[in-house]
Amino acid sequence: MAHDATTSRPGYFGRFGGQYVPATLLSALDELEAAFLDARDDPEFNEEYHRLLRDYVGRPSPLYPAPRLSERVGAKVYLKREDLNHTGAHKINNTIGQGLLAKRMGKRRIMAETGAGQHGVATATVAALLGLPCQVYMGVEDVRRQRLNVYRMRLLGAEVIPVEGTSGTLKDACDEAMRAWMGQYEETLYVFGSVAGPHPYPTMVRDFQRVIGDEARRQILDAEGRLPTKLVACVGGGSNAIGLFYAFLEDDVELIGVEAAGLGLQPGQHSASICAGTFGVLDGAATYVIQDEDGQVLPAHSVAAGLDYPAVGPQHADFHDSGRGRYVAVTDEQALEAFRTLTELEGIIPALESAHAVAQVLAMADELTDDDLVIINISGRGDKDCEEVQRLTE
Ligand SMILES: *Cc1c(COP(=O)(O)O)cnc(C)c1O
Repeated sequence: MAHDATTSRPGYFGRFGGQYVPATLLSALDELEAAFLDARDDPEFNEEYHRLLRDYVGRPSPLYPAPRLSERVGAKVYLKREDLNHTGAHKINNTIGQGLLAKRMGKRRIMAETGAGQHGVATATVAALLGLPCQVYMGVEDVRRQRLNVYRMRLLGAEVIPVEGTSGTLKDACDEAMRAWMGQYEETLYVFGSVAGPHPYPTMVRDFQRVIGDEARRQILDAEGRLPTKLVACVGGGSNAIGLFYAFLEDDVELIGVEAAGLGLQPGQHSASICAGTFGVLDGAATYVIQDEDGQVLPAHSVAAGLDYPAVGPQHADFHDSGRGRYVAVTDEQALEAFRTLTELEGIIPALESAHAVAQVLAMADELTDDDLVIINISGRGDKDCEEVQRLTE
């Protein structure tokens, strides 16, 4: 395994990360790591990746100064507009990278897990773009709840494979996808959706999402001639957050990750792995996990389906331990309120996931000053959530 500048042991971030997988998967992960490191240093690969980000995704995404929100909170606030990407969120940055890697590795198929369907749709989109067959594993309960995304994936040519498991949700889909990958990794690349899972996924997905922060750093220096004081992003697995944070790691900039407190921080009511979880292993990595005293993973809840993951990327867990990042949690109710506030103040309907980041900035209004310069990552657009918000609030 290769060394990462920010880790002490290979594949680890402090005491988090690693490869807690069956031995058969180790060779698949080693092959993937070698291919990724090789691609990362190859100008041709990078040129193709950035060309697709520009011509297909629509990057760079704007960094928008939000005047009415700024006035509301008493500090200058910018929004990084990942909601304007093709398919409406940041996930496509990663699936394009892994899709190109699959081609480069000579894989004939790609596969993915999905919860609410957003990563499944982003993977199916790239499968269509690159002409690769695609299988998406999805819990039966999620298949039922997310019919529109299931239809989208099928339209895009992907095969959606319903997984029974114990709850019929994301955790079962992840378990089954890992199992299925073991039997077919020679032909298939498993496209993982966040900065979680076994090494090299946390590093690789971060590197495919760091374009968010690389752009934002240039954009804010152009616009303001100085660095921001705070970056704020929602954290499910943590890919949009680390994508924004990474370019600012060495700077004097506060990194704020916002988890989902759901209905409150009692067991089974939230998805706040750092704020209310404990050290454990999930999906092949050591990290903070929402679990009971016996290590049984507890169901995660959030009004934002994309935050509904019972663990968190290992590098965030390490930022929390070292104090480099500050992790907080906001409730469903606060997120719903922020969803409305941003829509009314700026004419931008955020994804419910992103509304958590907005809610945190609204909640911090008292501690913000004129000198503060804040960037909020708007990880996705809220069209997908309008029906649910209407149902919950009217
Ligand atoms: C999936 C998703 C998230 C959560 O995933 P991260 O890996 O934590 O970024 C956040 N926002 C949107 C819009 C999503 O689709």
